[in-house]
Amino acid sequence: MNDPKSLKATEFIDHEEILESLAHGRAHARDRALVRAILEKARARKGLDHREAMVLLDCAIPDLNEEIFSLAKQIKMDYYGNRIVMFAPLYLSNHCVNGCLYCPYHSTNKNIARKKLTMEDIVREVTALQDMGHKRLALEAGEDPVRNPLEYILEAIQTIYSIKHRNGAIRRVNVNIAATTVANYGKLRDAGIGTYILFQETYNRAAYGRLHPYGPKSDYDWHTEAMDRAMFGGIDDVGLGVLFGLELYRYEFAALLCHAEHLEAVHGVGPHTISVPRVRAADGVNPSDFSGGITDDVFAKIVACIRISVPYTGMIVSTRESRECRERVLELGVSQISGGSRTSVGGYFEEETDNSRQFDVSDNRSLDEVISWLMELGHIPSFCTACYREGRTGDRFMALCKSGKILNCCHPNALMTLKEYLVDYATPNTLEMGNALIDKEIDVVPNLKVRSLVTRKLAEIEGGARDFRI
Ligand code: SF4
Ligand code: SF4
Repeated sequence: MNDPKSLKATEFIDHEEILESLAHGRAHARDRALVRAILEKARARKGLDHREAMVLLDCAIPDLNEEIFSLAKQIKMDYYGNRIVMFAPLYLSNHCVNGCLYCPYHSTNKNIARKKLTMEDIVREVTALQDMGHKRLALEAGEDPVRNPLEYILEAIQTIYSIKHRNGAIRRVNVNIAATTVANYGKLRDAGIGTYILFQETYNRAAYGRLHPYGPKSDYDWHTEAMDRAMFGGIDDVGLGVLFGLELYRYEFAALLCHAEHLEAVHGVGPHTISVPRVRAADGVNPSDFSGGITDDVFAKIVACIRISVPYTGMIVSTRESRECRERVLELGVSQISGGSRTSVGGYFEEETDNSRQFDVSDNRSLDEVISWLMELGHIPSFCTACYREGRTGDRFMALCKSGKILNCCHPNALMTLKEYLVDYATPNTLEMGNALIDKEIDVVPNLKVRSLVTRKLAEIEGGARDFRI
């Protein structure tokens, strides 16, 4: 029985409900009146439930599909404006006891070098990341209770926050590690993490079992119920995601939204972010071995429909996607991207060896190239980390986001953090382009008091001051 309020994965991700939703979507793919009614509801910015969203995803009426895309773009602008938040992944260890078939770090792969960063290595990696200009990291580590115990992750977080190189600082550490206990989530909260991210990979229980033949991650319920334990452990912001390309995308889409509805029903706060990775090639991993591959067009439709269904949830794409694909989904709803990423352990300080990557990167440009490309497209690259440092997390953040008021913080913070980047790290071309963009954007800050404050702070940043936020 489908029950969003239940704490049991079998009930909040109910297989029968998802199958019925898929049938509902198919049955109404050409139902102009219903699609129109759902679009009307979505225009009120209240979001959609998974069945309504399914109808939009399956919609096969060309002019209404155009409306879906243009509504997604409008919602993206209303809630997030033109700022795009930047982050980088940091791989701590590729030791792993699990057997995930889509990941080269699975324990039986003997081809790759196994590495775990020491605290000294972390200092080198983070210094290299700071010298690129990054302020926000996503920590990644395989699951290995002996080699990568929670104490190691906690020490790594403490080390990262303590590193200050020139004007650099990592101001927000998000964490993507294996499902754990309420007590351990409490320790992560105490360590000052931003968002706890855990990808479901696939919500289909049978496929999940096939793809995770052994290891703690093979326990579907333990994994799927992790976000509840995280929130009971005091973590306010959690990030969902599925690995598109493993199972049938329609199933994943409906289930992902069921999971978001569940978090809202139980905790009063939906997911802080949703990530939309697709399977990529890696050592021993061939995307064509999996049955659920999706085209760029389908990928764009998924992004647009998520944007419409959960307007208050940030959306993330990584360098798994090509420049062209990222360009398209940025305007449809993505609010956060990685740039200049290395997906191997130790890859920022040392030259990467191909077979140690968790996946092949499709966008290999440097951070500076990504920044100037974003600005050419009219986006404001942002290194903002203000919310969690100002205590705007969980329901406090959601209330601001749902009311659209968060934009009053995002836009000025984007300008101030971009300015820091330009002064400290940009190449001359990027610097020139960025200063011109800031001059233009400062004029559209609606509140005159805020505009004059930000103008002052921008001058102070030129003079050497750092870390202003609203
Ligand atoms: S996806 Fe994560 S848990 Fe699975 S093998 Fe890779 S590192 Fe280990
Ligand atoms: S103000 Fe908050 S929501 Fe906006 S970019 Fe900064 S951290 Fe993100």
